This record gives sequence, C-alpha cells and structure tokens, in this order.
Amino acid sequence: MLTRREFLWAAIAAPSCFGLTGGLSLAEDLREGAVEPTVEEALAAIRTLTSTAATSVTAERRAACDVIQDSVDRLRAAEFEEYFKSSPEEAKRWEDERAVLRFLNASFDKVLAEFRETTVADGGVVLWQIYNMGYLVKTPTQSFAIDVKHRRAPELTPLIDFLLVTHKHGDHYTDAFCDSVASAGKPVVTNFIDNEWKTPEEGREYRFGDCSIKTRLVDHNDRLRKFVTTYEIDCGERSSGTTILHVGDACNVGQLVATKPIDVFIPHLAVGLDVPKAVNETIRPKTTLLSHILELGHLIDKWRWSYQYGFNICEKCANDSVILPVWGEKYEARQ
Ligand SMILES: [Zn+2]
Repeated sequence: MLTRREFLWAAIAAPSCFGLTGGLSLAEDLREGAVEPTVEEALAAIRTLTSTAATSVTAERRAACDVIQDSVDRLRAAEFEEYFKSSPEEAKRWEDERAVLRFLNASFDKVLAEFRETTVADGGVVLWQIYNMGYLVKTPTQSFAIDVKHRRAPELTPLIDFLLVTHKHGDHYTDAFCDSVASAGKPVVTNFIDNEWKTPEEGREYRFGDCSIKTRLVDHNDRLRKFVTTYEIDCGERSSGTTILHVGDACNVGQLVATKPIDVFIPHLAVGLDVPKAVNETIRPKTTLLSHILELGHLIDKWRWSYQYGFNICEKCANDSVILPVWGEKYEARQ
C-alpha cells in the first residue's frame, strides 16, 4: 500500500499511469541550478533570518534568503499541498528534508513563543508575519489574526479575540482555522461565511473590545470585482490609536481609503496595485509591510514571488519605511 506521498512521487514520475493531468501541476519545472540546502545550511539560514530584522537588510540576511529560496524553487505546488494536508509525523519528515518547510514550521514556533512572552506597552502594537499575507497582532488589550494560512493555524485560536479574512482564496484562510475560531465562540469576519459578522457589499464597521474596524469591498482584478475586504483597524486608546490598513489582494490604488493616518500598511506586492503610489502619494503610511511573497501553493515559476522580487519592489518605492518581513518576523509599531 502506497502512502499518499509515495503515490504522489510515483505519479510525478509516471503521470499517465495514474491518469493525472496538469491540474496537479506535475509538469512543474524546478528552477535550474537550485540545489536543496543541507540541514546545516538550512539551520544556519533560519538562525540568521530569526535573529536579524527586516528593517536592516544586511548581506548576511540576503544570503540566508538565497538559501531558503533555493529550497522554495525545488518545492512543487503539489508537494506543498501534500505537506499541508499531512499528519504531524508526515509533516516532520517533509520539514527534515526541505529547508523551506523547516523554516515555515520553525517560524511558527518562534511566533508562538514570542507572542506568549511579549507584553505590549501602551502606545503601540506588535505584529508577527505568519505566511503570505497572514499576521498575528497583539495590542495592549487584545489579540487578533488576519489572513492566516498555516497548517498549524488552529493553535492560534486560544490566543486571539477575533479573526479577519480578506477574501475567499485558499492562500488567505483555512476552513480548519475559521471553524476552530468560530467553535471557540469568537468572531470570524469575512465576506463569504454566512454568520453574524459577514461584511456586506457596502462595507461595515465593527468594534471588538477597544478595536474599531472599518471595512470596504474592493476589486481583486477585472473579473473579481468587490471581492476583497480591506480592513482599517484602529487598535484602540491604549495603543494611542495605532492603525493598521490590511488590503489583502486589492489591485486598484484608487479604491483604497484611509480615514485616518495609517501606521502600518499591508499590501500585496504584485497583484497590480501601484504600491509606490500608495506609499508615497495616497496612503502615505508610517511603515509598509510588503507581503505575499513565497506563495507555495502557486507554481514555482508562476505567481510565487521571490525574496528578490520583494527587495526590488522595496527599491522601487524608494522609501526606507517599506520593508519585506519574512515568516516569523516580529514588527513593533510605536507612536
Ligand atoms: Zn492571495
């Protein structure tokens, strides 16, 4: 009897025997020249990425990104899906073999540990990058998550007061996490789950504890109109009104609205949104956390934007306040 993983490998080797088609992306090419890092190289890169900060991109940090990128460029989308669905034991095997998955898991441990030991001082908030556009946020009074996709996401349920999701695409939420948060009796805000928190087309305002949230529906692209909810989150008096604008996969800079000064702006770096214009002309945030790199559910050579792509957009913005967080990154916003 083949395990799921053995089946997948066999299918990749001989797709016709298994009657599988391009839908599983079996023909996906690995990047030529990319070599899977050794365990020692992976551990060293993870150590560097978790002990340095996105606000200071040193040559050492860039080199560590290159190590993880080699592993990213050897992990097929179908393999990532397989890993995502796997049992903890199977997942551990994947993580032992693939630097990128080792990092994805280790960065989640880092977030959990830091979240528990962090007391947020008045006048600010702390954010952790999870994966893609996913963030965990802790204010002086509350905690919440936005757009979290991670195989271990339900472990966050006891830590948060509410969950926000920008849109119904699999790289921005998981059913397991939404169900887990809802089962705990906590609000799950989306524009697609029929519960009391659903955002209607005209947008809606919410108040959770001392957090005030304004939502709007905007376009993802020409076809998916009013598909993405943007969240303008005023984190409350104790945070001195620190405000986060998370815009998910919003593509049109003209549709983005900020009703007050934005401290932390979280956009997709490559969905067609004019990020330099938002940063320098319209939203003018204090800090931008450029997001949506390394979406492993996308094919290696299609829409899986690399670290280098992210650094290039940072450069294009020509603004020191635009940074590229990596998985597990902790960012403190202070007034
Ligand atoms: Zn997306």
